[in-house]
Amino acid sequence: MTDRYCVLGNPVAHSRSPVIHAQFAAQRGQDMSYEAVLAPADGFAETVAQFVAAGGKGANVTVPFKEEAFRLSTRRSARAERAGAVNTLVFGEAGVFGDNTDGAGLVRDIEANLGVALAGKRILLLGAGGAARGVIAPLLACRPASLFIANRNADKAEALAKEFSDLAVVDAGNFAKTAGHCFDIVINATSASLSGASLPLPAEIYAPGSLAYDMMYGKGETPFLAQARQQGAALLADGLGMLVEQAAEAFLVWRGVRPETAPVLAELRRQLTA
Ligand code: NDP
Repeated sequence: MTDRYCVLGNPVAHSRSPVIHAQFAAQRGQDMSYEAVLAPADGFAETVAQFVAAGGKGANVTVPFKEEAFRLSTRRSARAERAGAVNTLVFGEAGVFGDNTDGAGLVRDIEANLGVALAGKRILLLGAGGAARGVIAPLLACRPASLFIANRNADKAEALAKEFSDLAVVDAGNFAKTAGHCFDIVINATSASLSGASLPLPAEIYAPGSLAYDMMYGKGETPFLAQARQQGAALLADGLGMLVEQAAEAFLVWRGVRPETAPVLAELRRQLTA
């Protein structure tokens, strides 16, 4: 029988995950289906239960349910535990296993796809929401020279820095506090680009040869990347690669085989720019 998987979110119709997993499955000869399932804002657990009752084997979880998925999991990976959020669920006899593949996806996209090493780099992480929280430990595991978390609401950035202070000394504050600092890698994990807003970042935060990375993606350059280009970032990347890499990591968790991401990323990029 074909194994069923899905992505749960609200909204979810825009999700590219069904296209990505269909390509992974074809590539690796896996007998599986993958659909987008809209969960009501107050009905995440019920939607999961219905999917499991219908034979579902696993699910990805997207906005706004990653924290609820964390609470619903009866067992969790160490990386999900550390992130406090779950984006990958595995349904089995023993209950619900929760994992988080977002951080691994980001690291893989930066290091393997873009060819930029994180070790020894000065990293600025913008944002202190779920996406930022999920990538802090995986970034620190790559041994950067430093990590600065900047957020509109400085208290949230400072709370995150404190939460991860057992791993490294992390600087934190509002955007203005980054003035006078210089970074090799600037990662936008805010949702500001969604509303077309640009961030009040000081000039001269980009070191020569630096990478500006926006977790957002879409047709054309995001407002954050347009701003980074003006401020002197040398390399610009959006979050499409992260999306494909976190999906590949979830596929590995479910099926025990790692799919090849390059052709899938190239096809998605072609569709996005067509
Ligand atoms: P959250 O809602 O949890 O957090 C939103 C963050 O954005 C907060 O830090 C918030 O700051 C900040 N923010 C929102 N609007 C503005 C603004 N106008 N100016 C400055 N800061 C702003 O969202 P997530 O963390 O879940 O997601 C963040 C982004 O990352 C989204 O765009 C999402 O699509 C993307 N993402 C991409 C992935 C990929 O695979 N490519 C994976 C996961 C996420 P404050 O605390 O001050 O409100």
